[in-house]
Amino acid sequence: MDDSHISADLDRVLFTAEELDARLAEIAAEIDAEYRDKDVLLVGVLTGAVMVMADLSRALTTHCSMDWMAISSYGSGTQSSGVVRILKDLNTDISGRHVLVVEDIIDTGLTLSYLVSNLKSREPASLEIMTMFRKPEAAENAVDVKWVGFDIPNEFVVGYGLDYGGRYRNLRCLGSLAPHVYS
Ligand code: 5GP
Repeated sequence: MDDSHISADLDRVLFTAEELDARLAEIAAEIDAEYRDKDVLLVGVLTGAVMVMADLSRALTTHCSMDWMAISSYGSGTQSSGVVRILKDLNTDISGRHVLVVEDIIDTGLTLSYLVSNLKSREPASLEIMTMFRKPEAAENAVDVKWVGFDIPNEFVVGYGLDYGGRYRNLRCLGSLAPHVYS
């Protein structure tokens, strides 16, 4: 789905599919260099990270494995609280493995903080984070993110895996949702 199919639902397009693709290619080259002699395990967080995982993994020129976690984060309304429950755990034992967490978006960073401390307790050889988008508030939480696609303003965005009410994940670009959609 392109923005032309749902233009009335978007305030604006932040990044086109081509811009997302180009940025991902840059990051993939850095990740390739970092893990050149290592066997990296990409860990995606369902469901938002499916698009970035699919595109990042295919942009890599080195081998990688993939696994997925599903977590639910409790909070009031749209705010994350950092209280997290694992709905689906990894199929892989990550002890001694080089793990790269692939995230769609970091807002407060509370969900990610929980995830990182949970994964670190399993004693991977290394643990790094890549996120496609990061909002300003994320800076307030001390989670060390090695690769960031784009820093974005504090707007509610959809597309490229990110949904509103289950919709818009299949939108190729990243756009900010028009207020009439959620009010
Ligand atoms: P955090 O714990 O960092 O505040 O929450 C991160 C999660 O909140 C993301 O994985 C995503 O599911 C959701 N989220 C945060 N900001 C947005 C946004 O602008 N749009 C959408 N669709 N989801 C968001």
